[in-house]
Amino acid sequence: MLSTMHASPIGVGLAAPQVGILKRLIVIDLNREEPFNPEIQSLAGETIEEEGCLSFPGITADVKRAAKAVVTAQGIDGEPIRIEGEDLLARALQHEIDHLNGILFIDYVSGLKRQLLRGKLRKLQQSQQ
Ligand SMILES: [Zn+2]
Repeated sequence: MLSTMHASPIGVGLAAPQVGILKRLIVIDLNREEPFNPEIQSLAGETIEEEGCLSFPGITADVKRAAKAVVTAQGIDGEPIRIEGEDLLARALQHEIDHLNGILFIDYVSGLKRQLLRGKLRKLQQSQQ
């Protein structure tokens, strides 16, 4: 997972399902190198920033997310982890946890913008086949 993430300039984080691993694990580059299974404890504030995803190269969209996130998890050795993230880290955590729940960043995009993205997505799918 880490090598996939580091291969991409936009890769702040990666969720296991993105690389075909059906586990509730994510890695976050800003924070720690090992995968962990995150649970959101609290979210606060609000911020809108442009967001991308390793699963959708070349596609970005403005997404509203909480500005702060507190996440707990267990590390590989079972040790308790607590992460208090702000700004980019908070955004990355929410984005990757969404992946574990089957939610993509484009799901937050509404109306016209989503229609534009849909065209791009179709091209992307065709190029991957
Ligand atoms: Zn993503």
